[in-house]
Amino acid sequence: MKRRDFNQYLQRSAMALALAPWTTSMAAPTDKVHRWVTHPFALGVASGRPRPDSVVLWTRLLISEQDRTAPAEGLATQPLRVQLEVFSDAALKHRVQQSDIVTDSTRGHSVHAHVQHLQPSTDYWYRFRQGDALSAVGQTRTAPALNADIRQLRIALASCQHYEHGQYTAHAEIAKQPLDFVLFVGDYIYESSNPQYAVRKHSGEEPKTLPQYRERYEQYKRDPMLQAAHAAHPWVLMWDDHEVVNDYANDQDRNYTDPQHMLMRRAAAYQAYFEHQPVLLGPDKDQPAHMRLYEQLSWGKLADVWTLDCRQYRSAQACRDPVRGGGRMVMQCDELSDPSRSMLGQAQERWLTDSLSQSKRQWQLVAQATQISSTSVPAPAGRAYWNDAWDGYPEARKRLLQTVVDAKLQNVVTLGGDVHCNVAANLRLEPNNPQSPIVASEFVTTSITSRGLGDKPAAVIRESNADLLHYRSDERGYSLITVTPDEVRCDFRTTAFPVVTDAVLKTQASYVVKRGKPGPQIV
Ligand code: FE
Ligand code: CA
Repeated sequence: MKRRDFNQYLQRSAMALALAPWTTSMAAPTDKVHRWVTHPFALGVASGRPRPDSVVLWTRLLISEQDRTAPAEGLATQPLRVQLEVFSDAALKHRVQQSDIVTDSTRGHSVHAHVQHLQPSTDYWYRFRQGDALSAVGQTRTAPALNADIRQLRIALASCQHYEHGQYTAHAEIAKQPLDFVLFVGDYIYESSNPQYAVRKHSGEEPKTLPQYRERYEQYKRDPMLQAAHAAHPWVLMWDDHEVVNDYANDQDRNYTDPQHMLMRRAAAYQAYFEHQPVLLGPDKDQPAHMRLYEQLSWGKLADVWTLDCRQYRSAQACRDPVRGGGRMVMQCDELSDPSRSMLGQAQERWLTDSLSQSKRQWQLVAQATQISSTSVPAPAGRAYWNDAWDGYPEARKRLLQTVVDAKLQNVVTLGGDVHCNVAANLRLEPNNPQSPIVASEFVTTSITSRGLGDKPAAVIRESNADLLHYRSDERGYSLITVTPDEVRCDFRTTAFPVVTDAVLKTQASYVVKRGKPGPQIV
């Protein structure tokens, strides 16, 4: 630690002590302590953004009507102090840090603690306290030191957890797996309902305002199996479209809503996302309304991991239907070949190109929200393309893969979600062209619960795209990604749709990518 940092650290610690007499003694709460009528930690705890020396710890206080009107007046309107304790053992005997975090209604009483000065590759346990209420205990772990020789990285890759479409049994298994982190690539909540597939119901109508998005997160976060997966591991998070609204692109939605209004809705959704996830605001301390979610994470000498934002900055889908915009199959669409169209936006694309080109680690894992390989199908005139995934941004896809070629990277594996389908695919500069060399490998995970494409269209897609080595939309689950110096292995863990509470997951298929040999191989 630098001297200046150390001084600041001491000052912060001293300040915390001065402000919080409780920190010197964790004995029974005093009379001034609020006695909660309903449990304020009903949404659980979470950790995220693991780094060699830090993690982000999260919770959010829920203040019920009974507590709002309880004798301690102003509970909902005054700033509230939440105490955090971090331990180095599961028995909570060795406390290594404690601090106070002040929160208030402007952030939905959410708590984000950026805990620093931790040891690399180390497990920690943590809990929060407010008044006489204690949160559940969460477990988290830091990333390895940047120069550490790491033999293994274990990730649960997950996406798309429509609450109505099934139970979160996959999360119950994730909670029990020995993992380094959960990589969630988007569709954490769904704004929309499909009554015909509902095994349980969203409460409230389609969210458009901050209170409505908060209510939607509250319902999802109350799920005990989802809480278990958060309490067991740090999560590395990205969003896709349903955190705001289906198929949105930057300031455009399917209904061609006035962009100013669309951006207000998006700001409410991003604010609610921030309030419910263990994430940090970007390096510029920007507002949640335009928070920078894309980041790079290094795992010792073994891997660099990029987590991308495929919604906030993208160009609108090509050749949209003039009445009902958003995603659709498009044919004879000249707009597709417009090189100015972008999936990531200029700034993120430049950042990715630069950092990917400079990566010296053994593996480059590019996590993004959707599918990069092609799912085009024969059509009366040429082929039809799904314009919401990378097939709708073919020039941007070519630039990304050309970066891999130019940097002579042999070990790039992309990880995605969104399509409710397990995919193992070859990535070529020219999709499905056997003359075009395979330059990278793709794994896309199926959904935790959300319903997949029907068997017939899935079969047509599979048969029409030679690069799709595996393409199955019938089962739900997540994917175990195991990275070692020699290979990246993907085990698709699945169960039938709709997922029931006592479902047992099995391995649908396993693929490996060998070092220096792009393209998944079946195990
Ligand atoms: Fe989805
Ligand atoms: Ca999606």
